[in-house]
Amino acid sequence: MKCSSQLHAHHISRRRHYVNRWLPENMLCLCANHHRHIHDHPADELALVAHVYGEGHYDMLINREYVIKWDKDYEAVEARLKQAANNTKQHTKGDQNGKH
Ligand SMILES: [Zn+2]
Repeated sequence: MKCSSQLHAHHISRRRHYVNRWLPENMLCLCANHHRHIHDHPADELALVAHVYGEGHYDMLINREYVIKWDKDYEAVEARLKQAANNTKQHTKGDQNGKH
């Protein structure tokens, strides 16, 4: 399959599960074509998740849907995402300067 130039964020545990919705480890960055493929081929999704995150990761996320109650703490979600964005910026700067 040919990759598309458009990038999508794939949610392993679907977006309606708020307890996982903004977890970085619930995300896979895929091109639009492969994103569509993954939604149509669940076995390929499972194999990809195991390859990227390791065996048991998929089950761990699905389990969270049932055992963890969404606390609606949007401020905490925002703070975690800002921190992650800052870490990414720092890392990118390091790359540009040839430092790690
Ligand atoms: Zn692709």
